[in-house]
Amino acid sequence: MRIARVAHPQGVAFVAVHGEEAAEIAEHPFGTPTFTGRKWPLADVRLLAPILPTKIIGIGRNYADHAAELGNEVPAEPLVFLKPNTSVIGPNVEIKIPAASQRVDFEGELAVIIGQPCREVPKAKAMSVVMGYTIANDVTARDLQKKDVQFTRAKGFDTFCPMGPFIETEFDPSDVRVVTELDGEVKQDGRTSLMVHDIPALIEYVSGVMTLLPGDVILTGTPAGVGPMAAGQTVSVTVDGLGTLTNPVANR
Ligand code: MG
Repeated sequence: MRIARVAHPQGVAFVAVHGEEAAEIAEHPFGTPTFTGRKWPLADVRLLAPILPTKIIGIGRNYADHAAELGNEVPAEPLVFLKPNTSVIGPNVEIKIPAASQRVDFEGELAVIIGQPCREVPKAKAMSVVMGYTIANDVTARDLQKKDVQFTRAKGFDTFCPMGPFIETEFDPSDVRVVTELDGEVKQDGRTSLMVHDIPALIEYVSGVMTLLPGDVILTGTPAGVGPMAAGQTVSVTVDGLGTLTNPVANR
């Protein structure tokens, strides 16, 4: 199922998208969704970030070629950080560059959406706690990341976690292409099969640290090719099978 969160003429709702129609989901999209019967043409609704997570867990240096381009070793265990949920924005919403940073980078990534409360999930059962997958841009103030050493400020500004446009629940994430374009020029072109720690390993590791709740997001890391964005540019991340997440860039 293709799930979205939309602003419609009467409010905000989770919907299932079938072709050009959005069918309202009752209450929440976890488990087996039920439907209210209300429907809108997709053209009459505005896509929002597809989920509002309680937390976003980022994974650093999870593609060897990206670790190398920043002069870092590939970590033996997943390198985990948090982004605040207030950094989430939806498709087509402006990424705002803060005055505190002179270099704000795009990082196109596959995002895993957790579907149920869970902790200490073994690898072999990890895929059973996944609700689905979407696209994210792990926007990073690279200069502040280096200056602060820890990642909170660099990864945590408002608008630094664009997500969407949809969550696909039937999707094989093991070997799909992840492409980031800046003003139409390809900057990153990787495949999820090149992750250092795969999705089951990430779920086992992260859920061994903290309880995961429905809607929580794990950003699986970015391939090589990260680079800066400037106000007036447009950044797009495409994951085969998940569509394209596009955001304009502006100064805060
Ligand atoms: Mg990242």
